[in-house]
Amino acid sequence: MSKQNINVALIGNPNVGKTSVFNQLTGLNQQVGNYPGITVEKKVGFCKLSTNINANVIDLPGTYSLNASSADESVVIDLLLNKKDKLFPDVIVLVSEVENLKRNLLLFTQIKDLEIPTILVINMIDRMKLKGISLDIPFLEEKLKTKIALVSSRKNIGIEELKKLITTYKTISTEPCLNASSIDDVYFDNLRKTFPNQSLYKLWLVITQDVNFVDLNRKALEHNSFTKSDSELKRLQQKETIKRYQFINNTLKIGQKIDSASATDFRSKLDRVLTHKFWGYMIFFAVLFGIFQSIFEWSKIPMDFIDRIFAGLSAAASQNLPPGTFTNLIAQGIIPGVGGILMFIPQITFLFLFISVLEESGYMSRVVFLMDKIMRKFGLSGKSVVPLISGTACAIPAIMATRNIENWKERLITILVTPFTTCSARLPVYAIIIGLVIPDKFVFGFLNLQGLTLMLLYFLGFSMAILSAYILNKVLKLNCKTFFVVEMPNYKLPMFKNVGITVIEKTKAFVFGAGKIILAISVVLWFLASYSPSEKFKNAEEILHSKTENSSLTKRAFDNKLASYKLEHSYIGIMGKTIEPLISPLGYDWKIGVAIISSFAAREVFVGTLATIYSVGGDGKNDETIRSKMKEEANHETGDKIFNFASGISLLLFYAFAMQCASTLAVTKKETNSWKWPMGQLVFMSSFAYIVALIAYQILK
Ligand code: GDP
Repeated sequence: MSKQNINVALIGNPNVGKTSVFNQLTGLNQQVGNYPGITVEKKVGFCKLSTNINANVIDLPGTYSLNASSADESVVIDLLLNKKDKLFPDVIVLVSEVENLKRNLLLFTQIKDLEIPTILVINMIDRMKLKGISLDIPFLEEKLKTKIALVSSRKNIGIEELKKLITTYKTISTEPCLNASSIDDVYFDNLRKTFPNQSLYKLWLVITQDVNFVDLNRKALEHNSFTKSDSELKRLQQKETIKRYQFINNTLKIGQKIDSASATDFRSKLDRVLTHKFWGYMIFFAVLFGIFQSIFEWSKIPMDFIDRIFAGLSAAASQNLPPGTFTNLIAQGIIPGVGGILMFIPQITFLFLFISVLEESGYMSRVVFLMDKIMRKFGLSGKSVVPLISGTACAIPAIMATRNIENWKERLITILVTPFTTCSARLPVYAIIIGLVIPDKFVFGFLNLQGLTLMLLYFLGFSMAILSAYILNKVLKLNCKTFFVVEMPNYKLPMFKNVGITVIEKTKAFVFGAGKIILAISVVLWFLASYSPSEKFKNAEEILHSKTENSSLTKRAFDNKLASYKLEHSYIGIMGKTIEPLISPLGYDWKIGVAIISSFAAREVFVGTLATIYSVGGDGKNDETIRSKMKEEANHETGDKIFNFASGISLLLFYAFAMQCASTLAVTKKETNSWKWPMGQLVFMSSFAYIVALIAYQILK
């Protein structure tokens, strides 16, 4: 018998457990991408239904109705109206939830009107007893003209039965369960006569929504005598919704019994504490503190481990492969590049572990309730708090964490401003410069000036993020309606499978999505630092030998000098010298220029590069030697010290604001699905940093 492949679309309101059902059906056989041109996540999974039927399961974004008010909802309508789409469903599985059947059925009755076989899943049946709910399934199946699967995706109940039911999709009724066209008989009759081959509800959706529907000429609809004004259409839509709810109420009156006495008030007690005017915030900040600690502290151990492994690999490659360009590319370009990508995995894992637990447990909705009002003033969402705070560890996982912000504009603004928060890669740069130019003194007897400076830099980053959000909110003209219901789902213990799949998926998305770009940039930077058109670079060793003939340099000191000399004459060294006229008004020389260019790979590279240039060797971890070298550095013409108060402050400000991180750009590209936004980020942040640093230096010098 030949194998059959069918398309199954999962549709449902947000929070009904649609993702959990999807995960149960497909396990790790999932592919996540984006719908073309927009940033809505597209998830397709694979499921073996029976020996001869396989299914592509499409997890569509959560939607309350077919009256599109967001990009997410348009995706659903576009697919359901487009028979030619290669994912057009053979059968729809509408996931509902036992405690919110009434609201969930609104979408169900609309979907039924599309005349596609539709199965109704009633999920979370494990809560029926607790909530005292009982259902008359045969009655409901008859009234709703469908087959019902009772499922608990949490307890893995009913999934096998659901799979079997899906295989019988051809026997499931495609009849609507109510006659919605009775809201205006004349109008709909007219419509039916003009387009006899189209389903009536489809026509109605095309008339009322702005959908990209291909096999129907919109113009023909618009030029006909039955066109109505927008307000008339709105009124009809309202009538339609009322009609549907009347039907649902009548059906549930008989088909569903709720013994309200058995419902517990645990939820409302917990809500009172978690959204309390004082305790709510306290608890939230404690949770944030926990998240912050974990991405900062706990990730250190695995990150160091990854770092050491890749340093070892790199050394092993240099020693064991025949010397030459290829070996250098592997040992100094590719291995460190891959290491630099994998290094982010611990932070991404920890952050998403927390976020998915917060989402799953229902707590995130309380956070939104608490923070939304404040954040919205700045064009951000209540959920932006998590990325903004996580950004203090690293912008990469933080930007990825914006995925759960529903409104595209709020999400975009959060992505764009998060890199302003002070990430941990800025710390080594701040530490060395503060140590150089800020006196280690106490003011008012207890405030250490160096500590105070560091705190001010954090404050500056955060204020800049908020301020730019405010401005972006005013200037960005994006058409996305903020029509969004703050829903408070029930508290639940997170499902291990859901959390696990989220973490694996995010890590995969990062490594294979942004990773490619990060690797490419690190290889380019390696090339620039290791090659040169100049003869001096090629003959560096001889030149240095003849220069240092009479001095008694140790082998190590000689190697350090050699590395410094080569770097100076490499492409990057030449670039540093070329940009000197541009950066000298900020108080920097070409050496700082080289360090700034190299630190585009990651900010902390700044310190290591200076260590090489000042030929102190090592990786920049030996602060004392670099610091004393930096202290001595003087302008060879004027004799003025290079690192003075003015240039130090200028550098601190430059690093506070500049977009000095290739990986962040790569992630922004991945998350916004376009080069426009990361490029805007790069140009805006870097020019702003330049101007601020320039003003600071010119005033202070
Ligand atoms: P989606 O928004 O519809 O994709 O819903 P999710 O799959 O993310 O689930 C929403 C919440 O319901 C999560 O906290 C899940 O752990 C929980 N959940 C999912 N399925 C069940 C179930 O069968 N029983 C119970 N009690 N909770 C569930």
